[in-house]
Amino acid sequence: MIPNVLSIAGSDPSGGAGIQADIKAISANGAFAMNAITALTAQNTQGVSGIHLIPPAFVQAQIKAIFDDIRVDAVKIGMIANAVIAAAVADALQGHGDIPIVLDPVMIAKGGAALLEPEAVDTLRCALLPIATVLTPNLPEAAHLLGTDIAKTRDDMAKQGAALCALGPKATLMKGGHLEGSESPDCLVTAETVTWFDAQRTATQNTHGTGCTLSSALAAQLAKGHPPAKAASAAKSYVAQAIAAADALSVGTGHGPTHH
Ligand code: PLP
Repeated sequence: MIPNVLSIAGSDPSGGAGIQADIKAISANGAFAMNAITALTAQNTQGVSGIHLIPPAFVQAQIKAIFDDIRVDAVKIGMIANAVIAAAVADALQGHGDIPIVLDPVMIAKGGAALLEPEAVDTLRCALLPIATVLTPNLPEAAHLLGTDIAKTRDDMAKQGAALCALGPKATLMKGGHLEGSESPDCLVTAETVTWFDAQRTATQNTHGTGCTLSSALAAQLAKGHPPAKAASAAKSYVAQAIAAADALSVGTGHGPTHH
């Protein structure tokens, strides 16, 4: 049976990030993709020029419509924009049993645009971290959630992953793309284990939407019943492949999308 994955996230009309990336990644990872949209953005490969928020009650209505009719095998949460939408999403996900939830704590786009209002970080921490199966922060997001400096070493990454797990998620996948050097290691931290996934950095400016792609691929792999370490390994390989293939695309003149 093909699993169903719901992504709760923002729209990127240029197709590289947000729900558009989620649909491609979920489909390519063998699951059926569904979306509840939290915000429309106006953006291209140069950056974000506008954000139009969906009213929180309507975000909830979308999620309710799906759960009322459709079996959901995993959820991915991406851009939640502000505190009221974050609380609405947390509320709408209550009472649906033990579905794996991947939480990508989207804060700032690569071009520098804020995709989360600063006051919403508390709600993200208190309402969404506790229900996450796997949290997928990049290093600046992890530091912001913890109120600490950005991790500079693998040791920092493992420690911060453990500190984030203490806030509620069953596991934290720390993404090392912001580390200096030629390697881009990720590590999956749980209360008992630290598992490393090593990768060489690919030289390309076409990495728009890699966070969305990773979290969606991970949700699809969890929906297929794989345990977190196996799911994270498959998702990381999928993103590496999408980045390696990105230069075959000719989409815009800025940070282009990856190729699914
Ligand atoms: N736009 C939307 C709607 C997103 O959800 C995200 C990331 O999650 C981005 C843009 C940012 O993408 P990137 O930082 O990879 O350019």
